[in-house]
Amino acid sequence: MAYKYIDNYREQGGRKQLVELLRKKGIADEQVLAAIGKVPRHYFFDETFWNQAYKDIAFPIGEGQTISQPYTVAYQTELLHIRKGDTVLEIGTGCGYQTCILLELGAKVYTIERQEKLYIRTKQVLPHIGYKANFFCGDGSKGMPKYAPFNKIIVTAGAPFVPEDMLQQLAVGGILVIPVGDEQSQKMVTILKVSDTDYEKVVLDTFRFVPLVGDRAW
Ligand code: SAH
Repeated sequence: MAYKYIDNYREQGGRKQLVELLRKKGIADEQVLAAIGKVPRHYFFDETFWNQAYKDIAFPIGEGQTISQPYTVAYQTELLHIRKGDTVLEIGTGCGYQTCILLELGAKVYTIERQEKLYIRTKQVLPHIGYKANFFCGDGSKGMPKYAPFNKIIVTAGAPFVPEDMLQQLAVGGILVIPVGDEQSQKMVTILKVSDTDYEKVVLDTFRFVPLVGDRAW
């Protein structure tokens, strides 16, 4: 990346205002808000667009993909109820902003991205700005059986249905958060694995994600 990683007062101030905005919009988990307050979101933008980094909007990150809206990141993260030491599978690494939020909360993160260019870029950027995750390139619509079970699974792209493989890869007591719907809009779905055979599903608000593309997806 061509620009330097500097966290100026302007960006720090922007981050504080963003946290207050998210609080007003209904994000209540203080740990999630603290994580949003810590991760320099402008590091994921070209310097020309730093003035956009702390607006509550999604933004193009190349390869036709976007960095998710901060509200959406906070919303999904809140639903995951991350505890320190949780093993988390993230499907759709993108630029890695959500990954950093999970890491701030003390999770051990496995993250998979199907677009090689994004995978390569994010795998380089995150350690550089102080965040360590396990990066993989490939189709995450089948989850990642090799590293299962996971305490939490988060899908950051819109799925046509809940892939069975992901449910199997959840630990008992684990939570899957996945947007499910058509290509235009999806409902946020959370699934709690109560036992090896029982699940509790809750359908929440409407969002618009880029599509989950793969074997068990679009
Ligand atoms: N988590 C990101 C948002 C990424 S957008 C953030 O913090 O901003 C969703 C990402 O999912 C895109 O980069 C897209 O390429 C990726 N994706 C779509 N289908 C996928 C699949 N089957 N496996 C892995 N990644 C996928």
